[in-house]
Amino acid sequence: MTSSRQFTDADRALFGNRFLTAEVPTKTFPESGMSAVEAMRLVGEDIALEGDPARNLATFVTTWMEPEAQRIIAENLHRNFIDHAEYPRTAEIEQRCIRMLADLFHAPGETTGARTQGSSEAIMLGGLSLKWNWRKRRKAEGGSTESPNLVFGGDVHVVWEKFCRYFDVEPRIVPLQPGKYTIGPEDVEPHVDENTIGVAAVLGTTFTGHKDDIGGINDLLLRIKSERGIDVPLHVDGASGGFVWPFLYPDTAWDFRLEQVRSINVSGHKFGLVYPGIGWLVFRETADLNHDLVFEENYLGKTDATFTLNFSTGSAMVLAQYYNLVRYGRAGYTYIMQNMQANAQLLAEKLQAMGQFELIGDGDEQLPLVAFQLAEKHSYDEFDIAWQLSAERGWMVPAYTLPPDAQDVTIMRALVKETMSREHVDTLARDIEEACKTLEAKGGAHESERQQIITGPGH
Ligand SMILES: *Cc1c(COP(=O)(O)O)cnc(C)c1O
Repeated sequence: MTSSRQFTDADRALFGNRFLTAEVPTKTFPESGMSAVEAMRLVGEDIALEGDPARNLATFVTTWMEPEAQRIIAENLHRNFIDHAEYPRTAEIEQRCIRMLADLFHAPGETTGARTQGSSEAIMLGGLSLKWNWRKRRKAEGGSTESPNLVFGGDVHVVWEKFCRYFDVEPRIVPLQPGKYTIGPEDVEPHVDENTIGVAAVLGTTFTGHKDDIGGINDLLLRIKSERGIDVPLHVDGASGGFVWPFLYPDTAWDFRLEQVRSINVSGHKFGLVYPGIGWLVFRETADLNHDLVFEENYLGKTDATFTLNFSTGSAMVLAQYYNLVRYGRAGYTYIMQNMQANAQLLAEKLQAMGQFELIGDGDEQLPLVAFQLAEKHSYDEFDIAWQLSAERGWMVPAYTLPPDAQDVTIMRALVKETMSREHVDTLARDIEEACKTLEAKGGAHESERQQIITGPGH
């Protein structure tokens, strides 16, 4: 028989936390509060059940920063970024970051840009500027401004379709094909006309980590400009690639070295190596930002120009981005990117040596990741492997199908991040091999297990 001593709230406050046994508030606004310690433990215990970010090979987003950077973040959480009048140094640091990125992307002269919550906000703002500039061009030539369209491939992030729906632009989407997961000039050409506000090309797709043929699309747009007199701007979605290509493939021109590239977005919280959420939008020249989108406002006695979708937001990640830029410089980013790529290469070699996998587009310029698929049909598929790896070892390696018309292609993808050491690569490779053996023996995962797998390419 267990003894059942009665405890009071005072005992609970002294020895622990009443949510060890009581139900937690989840539905209604709590009547009474709780102590700070209890609230902290309550949240901590909930989060403890979540996936371990160190094993999250599904996300492009930063899962580790240096202790010194974490300290800057922790010490600046109370600063509102938008209060430029009160925090002018933060505003200056934002401008420094924009200038450094413009330099990294080979902007020819003076330029402008914006700090954003991530690439999604940057793309919304960049897309709006494309639309406003197009309308101005059309009005000047006396054409209709009724039906704007935007051309991009099926390999883009969902945010591009979102932009089109939210801001009433017709999406002209080039479908993918089995074996062809990026787009080039031949795909774009049939869709471009005088109502095209721009072409969006991806540098480092979420699906396989490759880039569209940005150089080829630039050449096409130059030809269209000289032959048909239609000046269609090119926006590069460098959410992931914007912080990878300049360091791994510095000789590849995808940025402002190409004349039609008028704007670029990049996620600071992906390979910029900052925690979420920070993104950047950089224009080629000041004139590429349509000035009607900039609000001059008088706030707290000072005139300020803003170009954002949101207003208040934290300063901490801007400061953390600046910390990374000055801390690493080109040398540091190159060192980190090369290590990640070397480990990705090693994982790729190990997967290939197992015999049952095929790599997707290895040898081409790619983000530091491994995209792979089963070389032939087995009693189990990629989704089963993803489930087995997660259930048995806690690795989050997603399996997903590609967008139309390559929807019958299933692939898996493992991001190889800064924290993915050689030892982790060896362990992951062994765990994948082990997972395949287990699945072979039991003939695939059960239907109930398959419901729990991570699908979708992550972000
Ligand atoms: C991640 C990603 C986005 C969205 O970026 P967020 O920073 O998550 O808003 C857009 N495009 C591409 C290519 C991406 O990889």
